[in-house]
Amino acid sequence: MKLINTALLAQQPQSQKNKKGRFYNPSRLHLVPQRELFKWLLRRHRYLPKPIRFPLITTSNTQVLSAPLKAPLLTWIGHSTFLLRHRDIALLTDPVFSRWVSPVQGVGPKRSTPPALQVEALPTITAVFISHNHYDHLDKNSVLALFQRFGNALQWFVPLGVKAWFTKLGIHNVVELDWWQSAEVQGLRCHFLPAQHFSGRTLSDSYKTLWGSWLIDMPDFRCYFAGDTGYHAELFGTIGGVFPDIDLALLPIGAYNPRELMRNMHINPEEAVSIHQHLGAALSVGMHWGSFQLTDEPMDEPPQRLATALTQQGISADKFIVMEHGEVLEITLKQVANHEQ
Ligand code: ZN
Ligand code: ZN
Repeated sequence: MKLINTALLAQQPQSQKNKKGRFYNPSRLHLVPQRELFKWLLRRHRYLPKPIRFPLITTSNTQVLSAPLKAPLLTWIGHSTFLLRHRDIALLTDPVFSRWVSPVQGVGPKRSTPPALQVEALPTITAVFISHNHYDHLDKNSVLALFQRFGNALQWFVPLGVKAWFTKLGIHNVVELDWWQSAEVQGLRCHFLPAQHFSGRTLSDSYKTLWGSWLIDMPDFRCYFAGDTGYHAELFGTIGGVFPDIDLALLPIGAYNPRELMRNMHINPEEAVSIHQHLGAALSVGMHWGSFQLTDEPMDEPPQRLATALTQQGISADKFIVMEHGEVLEITLKQVANHEQ
């Protein structure tokens, strides 16, 4: 595998906060004012497209749990939750298994396609990566269920400022990182990287904890998990420059309408394809669609627009794919073998 560009990495700035303790975005871009978002939230129920329940593959579950691994195995559990197995390591991204993604179950965006695996069906998980503290990425019931099953052996990686939330729950095996910082656990080097987004779980804590993306580096496999992000060509070009040869990029393709409200915080499929190119990823997989109706676009639109964008940008359809809920994807040995030349 190509080495990390450590000179370029060393030039990257850590996060900065304003006087009120709120973090800035990499571009210092001001996102949509919160009152505009609330106005949209209050009126959106009138015209939301119908939720769609997508097919759920469950026959693959046994394979996920028991298959001997020849290559990295990726399972889409739903939304931004993936199970990634490689060698003797099993990872989860933004684990959310609940029916609602809000402060209270029974209220807010409801899941329309069930999670493909429940916590009790998971293999032994080594580490969990949290991109930010929005409810559709950091879910208390899911975190507690994972902690109950795996206890303190489970390693959590979280953005700066999020560790305190875990401490309050009695969970202490948590590594908290700033942008461009890294940590190593069990031969797994993890870099926390910027994204253009925000954070918050209450009316008053917006931007008070950091948000971002993760680069997970194993000796023969490099994976990027974008979390939630708006479009920022320079940022993703830099990430691709610091980390060449990304084998797999997990990129959001949903929650982009109404565009005037979402454009700075959520990319659309066309922008996701551009980011795939900026990163130079061998393969990208779309996420953040198909499980919850979060925003105004029809739930089946993101993959359709992705297919069109790939054609328009002259990229082969097998370089940026979507998976079905519960589908297991073996990352082909050819991509892994490339690193061993
Ligand atoms: Zn978010
Ligand atoms: Zn989200």
